[in-house]
Formats: sequence, structure tokens, C-alpha cells
Amino acid sequence: MPTCSTWGIILNLSGHGESDKIVTFYSPDLGRMTGIAKGAKRSKKRFVNKLELFSLLDITYRPSRNNGLIFLSEAELKEPFLSLRTRHRRYTMAALACELIIRFTSEHDPDPEIFTLLCWLLETVNSGGQPLKAGALFHLRLLGACGYQPELTICSLCKKQVNNSRFFALQPATGSLVCNRCNTRVQQSAFALSLQTIKFLQTAQQLKIHQLQRLQLPEKNARETLQMLYRYSQHLLQRDIHSWKFIVQEVCLWD
Ligand SMILES: [Zn+2]
Repeated sequence: MPTCSTWGIILNLSGHGESDKIVTFYSPDLGRMTGIAKGAKRSKKRFVNKLELFSLLDITYRPSRNNGLIFLSEAELKEPFLSLRTRHRRYTMAALACELIIRFTSEHDPDPEIFTLLCWLLETVNSGGQPLKAGALFHLRLLGACGYQPELTICSLCKKQVNNSRFFALQPATGSLVCNRCNTRVQQSAFALSLQTIKFLQTAQQLKIHQLQRLQLPEKNARETLQMLYRYSQHLLQRDIHSWKFIVQEVCLWD
């Protein structure tokens, strides 16, 4: 079978037998993929220092016949994003981003916007950008790319526009806002959001990915966003997000 090549960012790695590695990566033209790198634990030439978490690689592979594991035959390192593996706060946010992509995307379902978004997050945090801010914007836009964009302009029940005459909260069950008057009527557990955070997120939903870094999202609004998106995502996935426990203390540290 002929070999093919694609770019990919490594989302997860695990050992397989004595010498192989199972590699999950996200590619702009293949989507999320899982492959086996035969002899990767031993090979000094083909894979050493390349098959690492978060690395951007040019991967040479043989496709599988039935959409099973592909066979990685070689990889060229394009960008290691080295500081993500050595700095704790950077590592935990990159790990959360990778887990979210694994949970929210399907294999063999490419979306170049998701690849660009992941590159943006890794580059931003690797080059010293605020991890909480970058993570909050990444999570918001990932949900949008996957068809779960939160509706942040009006109360979903009375249709009143967001303004400072009422308080608004996001309902995790619907991903939409509800105002304080309607919320008492429906008695649902909703996550209260400050007007300032809602306005920031409305802007973040409109910007191009490369413009996100310009948004001056203060840390307290980033924390509020991450908590709200965590609640919403937990509801969508109907399961826990493991990486959350590594950033939860930092996120819930209210000033
Ligand atoms: Zn309302």
C-alpha cells in the first residue's frame, strides 16, 4: 500500500507491547486519527524526540484498509512547543485542550478550523500567553466549531437582549442564557455570568482565530468563562473531563 503524509498535532500517546506506541493526533485533512508507531520505543532515527505530547509533526503513514489504526512509518518534527512540557501551568492547559478535542471530535472527520484553533492555543501558551485566557477562548471557539456555540445575546425564554437591567446565567442543559426573572420561573440550575464576561465572549465569537490574542480578557473573566464552559461541556459529554482536576484550583481561585 502506498505511503501518504499529513501534518498532525499529538493529542495522546500510550505504549503498546514492548516496542510500539499508539499515537492519537489531530490533522487538518484527516481529523482525529489513531495510529501505531511500530518500534517507536526503540527506533533512534525515525521517532526519537518526535513522538511527544503536543508536538507538531509531518507524519508519513500507511492507511489502514478498514478505518482502523494507521501505520506511522516516519515523522519529521515541525514544532515541539517545548515549554508546554516543562512548565506546569502551560502543560495543564495544553492537556485540557487536547482532551477536549478528543472528546468533542470524531475520528476521520477533519475540520481545518479545529486544527488552526489548536495550533493557536499551543503557540500562544508556548510563547508566554496567559494560559487561563487562551484556554477560555479556545474552549469557547472549539464548542462553536463543533456545533455547540453558546447563545450569548438574548434570554432564551423572554428574548430580552443582554443588558445591565437584569442578571443573566447560562443553562448548561441548553447552552443558552436565561435572565434572572425567567430563571426563577423555570427553577433551573444555571451558571451566573457577569455582563462584562458575556460582552467579552460575544466579541470572541466574532473574531478570526488569529485576532483572539488581541482581546484583553481579564483573568477573572477567563476563570468565569472556563467554569461555565466546563459545566456546559460536562452536560454535553455526559462524562467528566479528566484534565479539569489539574486546573480547577487555579480556575476557582476567586479574587
Ligand atoms: Zn428572560
